[in-house]
Amino acid sequence: MEFRDLKTQYKKHKDNIDAQVQEVIDCASFISGKKVTELEEKLSEYVGRKHCITCGNGTDALELALMAIGIGTGDAVFVPDFTFFASGEAVCRVGAVPIFVDIEKDSFNISAESLEKAIEYVRKCTDLRPRAVIPVDLFGRPFDYDAIKNISEKYDLFIVEDGAQGFGGKYKGKRACSLGDISATSFFPAKPLGCYGDGGAIFTDNDEWADVIRSIKVHGKGVDKYDNIRIGMNSRLDTIQAGVLLSKMTFFDEEIVRCNEVAEKYNLYIDEKYAITPSITGDYYSSWAQYTILLGNKKSRDMLINILKKEGIPSMIYYQKPMHCQKAFEGYKDVYACLDYIVAEDICNRCLSLPMSAYLSDQEIECIAIQINKTMGE
Ligand SMILES: *Cc1c(COP(=O)(O)O)cnc(C)c1O
Repeated sequence: MEFRDLKTQYKKHKDNIDAQVQEVIDCASFISGKKVTELEEKLSEYVGRKHCITCGNGTDALELALMAIGIGTGDAVFVPDFTFFASGEAVCRVGAVPIFVDIEKDSFNISAESLEKAIEYVRKCTDLRPRAVIPVDLFGRPFDYDAIKNISEKYDLFIVEDGAQGFGGKYKGKRACSLGDISATSFFPAKPLGCYGDGGAIFTDNDEWADVIRSIKVHGKGVDKYDNIRIGMNSRLDTIQAGVLLSKMTFFDEEIVRCNEVAEKYNLYIDEKYAITPSITGDYYSSWAQYTILLGNKKSRDMLINILKKEGIPSMIYYQKPMHCQKAFEGYKDVYACLDYIVAEDICNRCLSLPMSAYLSDQEIECIAIQINKTMGE
């Protein structure tokens, strides 16, 4: 069994994907070009944003977004404590300080209440300027936009949405990656919309930011890449990846519908006595980057992993460690010591992500659920 079944996806859509890749090779135009522009147009229309700028990966996308809005030395940027490392790393890359914020226990997303406490702390007890918040659409479920928007308006913060896992999800009918003042996503192969290598994109309605990003991502180009008006970087989506993504866009929505069915079936089959299953209702529509359950404690979670493994069922712990405990951020530990991370610390000990993809069969879902119920019931 595959954790994220990219092999079956390829088998099913081989002709379509192969044709796109072959066209790129035939044209021998491997960087930028028509396909990248076509993809950017399709993506911005899909998300409902004026601009889409593709780049080398999701981490660069976050960094480019932060650079465009002018985040730098002396700035505090608020990041959920439970996310992939890159959400915090990008903040440090532009010279700002990541202030980690505890999460909500049901959604695993940034808690508005903890965010406000963290902002107040930074204002009163540090020399940093609160400038931006990076809410993450964790596991495919968009963050609570209305709650975060209220606080960002109150304290005059930019919202930089980390939609690396959220692409394809919705909040009140609005697509993920249209929820921030500026939003970043990743096309890493295992993400909801994945290419066959690294890739990423930034979305915004702001013309000025879009221009700056288009310059920074190609060595700070002016009129062309041999006229350099600022220090930039080299972060482009290559054309073969654009071809793969153009192909995958044609069946992406279908896949998300099936992922939602898969999640519903898991929820139905896994006995609530043994595990808390994700409930995504009301204003939210998830793209199911991960399907994550909570076990009673660390010991039973770790035992379950081993038994599933013996049965040939892969599972993963997203995430083992809260961000404020990562060694890379230990320089800020005095700040983190003044905030609390009770929920994030607890979730790290009890979470377990199960196989999830549009190509998981009903039979496989049932088999995984039965194994969980049996193991936890013993
Ligand atoms: C994957 C991921 C990223 C980084 O994307 P890459 O394309 O791997 O650089 C950033 N944030 C989150 C939440 C992610 O899951």
